[in-house]
Parts: sequence; structure tokens; C-alpha cells
Amino acid sequence: MTVSRDRPMTYAKMRGILSFFSALLKGKKVGFTNFLNKFVSTQHPCQHLNPQKSQQRQRRREEEGRDTAISVDTTTSQMKPSDFDYLKVIGKGSFGKVLLATHRKHGGYYAVKVLQKQMIVTRKEQRHVMAERSVLLKGLQHPFLVGLHFSFQTPNMLYFVLDYVNGGELFYHLQREGSFPEPRAVFYAAEMAMALGYLHSNDVVYRDLKPENILLDSAGHVMLTDFGLCKEGVAVGGIMHTFCGTPEYIAPEVLQGHPYSIAVDWWGLGVVLFEMLYGLPPFYSRSNAEMFENILHAPLKLRSGASQAARSLLKGLLERRVSKRLGESRDIMELQEHPFFASINWDDLLARRVKPPFIPKVTGPCDVTYIDPEFTLQPVPASVNERCQPGGTTEAFPGFSFMSSPEFVAPELAL
Ligand code: ATP
Ligand code: MG
Repeated sequence: MTVSRDRPMTYAKMRGILSFFSALLKGKKVGFTNFLNKFVSTQHPCQHLNPQKSQQRQRRREEEGRDTAISVDTTTSQMKPSDFDYLKVIGKGSFGKVLLATHRKHGGYYAVKVLQKQMIVTRKEQRHVMAERSVLLKGLQHPFLVGLHFSFQTPNMLYFVLDYVNGGELFYHLQREGSFPEPRAVFYAAEMAMALGYLHSNDVVYRDLKPENILLDSAGHVMLTDFGLCKEGVAVGGIMHTFCGTPEYIAPEVLQGHPYSIAVDWWGLGVVLFEMLYGLPPFYSRSNAEMFENILHAPLKLRSGASQAARSLLKGLLERRVSKRLGESRDIMELQEHPFFASINWDDLLARRVKPPFIPKVTGPCDVTYIDPEFTLQPVPASVNERCQPGGTTEAFPGFSFMSSPEFVAPELAL
């Protein structure tokens, strides 16, 4: 469902700015993360408030288009890079690359996120990476969250073996279409809200909601990826003039270095929803310093073009006063009651019974049509096949290696 709407001149101008800057935004992603790393001034504990809390496991693998999970021999105590064939580069993160890979023995397609230990250690980010792993390890499983199958390490690299999600980044589709018709935005916002509500109920704050981290699966459902979320203690207030990245998805309380809660995610959802409806994030400016200023102080401008319900929801989510923000007191329930989501049957949504408004045209699980050629045209680095040898910086990541629980593997092997 790809409808393009007529837009007024002023809006068309903004679209022009968008297309110019959208390329820059991607390029600046890494720069921004670097920036954040530099200015992590106080290291608060991660937002995993209750790691002991019992985990609710939900069915998921048998879903349409999700049958690429493989049966892996659980007697293999140690996964290693050479267990996989690396087919293509499909993404780039702050510390390494994400590759499409297939398991040599059992087949099945995976996204393997390979991180360079040295880069992590140099930037003192071990805590965050281990946090990402521990969040994935908490056994969190949800229809709209990317699942982790294994993690393992070699002397120089860390590996996360994840579901491969090949419908493309939401960012990719949004860029191509400018904005989404409201029913499409309702659907994505509702699925994101469910994933966020689930994380919150497990005492995890996602914190990094932005279109690059929101993927679509082959059936067109939302999948949140990237749990490198424990970037607490980022206090950037007062140094805006040196900022070299894109702050547009960051909640004002985080920008100011204030303590934050699950409500940061509802702000993030507000930003993404605004961008889906209007084509640009709220408070957008060509100048990052001005964008900071706007996020903290500028009035929220809700142009006509979105429904009354949409504008009311955006106002609720993009409320700077955390105590007044929608979702602050009763979390997702407050959103579920909002008229913007009146058309959503939440039980059907969770069961993936709601037909997605757009179905990616992928021919199979290894199709990379929706992955940016900027990545897929890159050669697979030879270093991902590093042999397991002693040395390196293993001691910085004790206990990193992990094999997913038996429910990820074939029933006969799980016994
Ligand atoms: P950053 O901190 O800069 O956002 P990162 O190191 O956290 O990056 P990810 O966001 O996890 O890295 O991954 C980088 C990109 O790789 C994503 O934006 C996405 O395009 C792609 N990617 C990540 N996970 C998957 C997956 N499971 N399936 C398909 N593509 C993926
Ligand atoms: Mg990311």
C-alpha cells in the first residue's frame, strides 16, 4: 500500500531537505554513536531492574515467513565462526558489521552481528555490549522483537547470531515513500508499542527507537533490533556546539542528562510516529545545535494532514514533562486506550493475525532486495572467519558465549 499524498509547497520544500539529509543521517549514525561514547560521563547501572524476574516465553518460530530457524546440534558446546558461511554484508553498526550467513551443517539464514573487541574496549563499551547480550539472554521473546540464537567469541571478535529479518529497515521504506498513509502508521506504531510494552514489563528500557532499528520481516510485521541500549549516563547538555551527530530521536530528559524511565520509549515512539506521518522528525533542523534547542524548547507543530486522533497522540507522546507524558503511569495501556488505535484489536495484533498494510516483495529468506546496496555490494571481510586461538581480549567479555535455550532447536535434539 504505497500511496503518495499531495503536499503543500512548504512541505515539498521540507521533503527536499529530507532527501538531501537522509543520506547524511545514515552517514552520521556512527559519528553520533562515537560522540555519545565520548561523552558518557556517569555510568549508571543498566536498566535491567529485575534480572531474576521470571520470563514469559511466547510462541513465535512457527509464524509465517519465520521458518528459517535451524536445528542445531546442542551437543556442540562451542559455536565458532567457521560454522557459518558468510554471504553478504547487510548492515553496519558502531563496532562492526552485520552479515547474512547460513549455518554450514544445518542451513537456515541468520543475521550475524560481528563486533570488534578492540573497538569496544578502546571506547570502554564492554558494559554496553554485555548488556546487549544480557538483554537478549533474558529470554525475551516477542513477535515483534528480533531473537538471538547464539553468541560466541574469538580472541578478537564477538558474534551475535540473530534472526535474519529481510523486509528492510522502516527507514528504507519511509525514505522511498516520504511518509505513510495513516492506517499504515497506526499498524506500525501499534506493533512497536506492543514490543516496547513487553520490554517494559520485563524491566528493560529500549531507549534507541529510531527508524534504522525498526525492521520489517518478510510478512511486513515490525521487528525491533539492536539492543545495544544501555547507553546510560549520556549527559550532553552544555556541549551542544560540539555535537556532530543526529539527536532527533533522543528524549529531552536524556539530552539533558537527567535520570530517565520507560517514558523515554514513548517519546521515541512519538518521534517515529511523527516522522511516519509527516516525513521528517519533529523539531528537525539542518543545524544539530538548533535541533537540540528545538527538542528541549520549541513548541510542537502539528500541521493539518494528520487526523485529530493522530495529533492528540503525538501531543501526548511528545510531552516534555515526563510526569505528564502518555504512557508514564500505566505504560502501554494508556496508549491502547487512545482513539488513534481504535481500529486495533490488540489480541489479533499480538497473534500476528492483523494483515500488514505492506508486504515486502521478497523471493525467499536470503533475498536482500530491501537491504541498502551500500552494504550488500561490500565484500565480506575475511576477518569474520577468524580462527579460535588463545590471546586477544577475551577476558574483557567473560561468559559471553551462549547458546539459545532448547526451544530454539529441533525438538528431538532438545530432549
Ligand atoms: P548503532 O548503535 O549504530 O545503531 P549497532 O551497532 O547497534 O548500530 P545494529 O543496529 O544492531 O548495530 O545493526 C546495524 C544494522 O544492521 C541495522 O540498522 C540493520 O539495518 C541491520 N540489521 C541488524 N540486525 C539485523 C537483523 N536481525 N536482520 C537484518 N538486518 C539487521
Ligand atoms: Mg542500530
